[in-house]
Amino acid sequence: MMRSFIKEARRRVGPKRARIVPIIERLQDEYPDATIALKYRSDLELLVSVMLSAQTTDVNVNRVTATLFEKYRRPEDYLAVPLEELEHDIRPTGFFRQKAKALRGTMAMLIADYDGKVPARMDDLLRLPGVARKTANVVVAERGQAEGIVVDTHVRRLSQRLGLTRQEDPVKIERDLVKLVPRQYWNAFPHLLIWHGRRVCIARAPRCEVCVINDLCPSSRVEVATETAHVHA
Ligand code: SF4
Repeated sequence: MMRSFIKEARRRVGPKRARIVPIIERLQDEYPDATIALKYRSDLELLVSVMLSAQTTDVNVNRVTATLFEKYRRPEDYLAVPLEELEHDIRPTGFFRQKAKALRGTMAMLIADYDGKVPARMDDLLRLPGVARKTANVVVAERGQAEGIVVDTHVRRLSQRLGLTRQEDPVKIERDLVKLVPRQYWNAFPHLLIWHGRRVCIARAPRCEVCVINDLCPSSRVEVATETAHVHA
């Protein structure tokens, strides 16, 4: 029975290639302000904020960086203090030992190899110690040169629910999404899904009845409820 519902739901919403742009456009109308929540004023501050945001909330990072960025303005500043001092300054973001080590390694490489500047290319960013693909993706996307699509927990969940991917692994999900999402939307797409994921398509209890894309979503509970009613009628 369940399988036929899924098949029926897929048929109802149509192929993902035909749905992707309407999904994006409707979410853009709904969330015209959907942007990154991290506060930064330079490429260096962006990189540091994204590195600190692992395993914590953006609000928490902004609280820490409000004072951090007054004290640490250049890559050299992160190396000029004892490691313990840097650890203390970023402590509220969690995993502070790991993050302090990554920051110091990254700053040392920026100075040695990139003239103290944050490189623009993905390959260069991925060389920096402690900079994983997700961090690098966010940084290049924010600078308007997205080379991929950021896949976090919301992007993963919503992409699956919307039937845009059947994969579980973020790298494979990204591979599916870059084939599907037109390039001009690569920056905006993750923000839109994150905003929608926080407000409507919530992990435990998606609010399908108020969702602006429920007619484009094969997982919509609104439709499943109607179909169930038909079956029981
Ligand atoms: S219809 Fe429901 S499952 Fe689909 S995107 Fe909207 S809230 Fe999420």
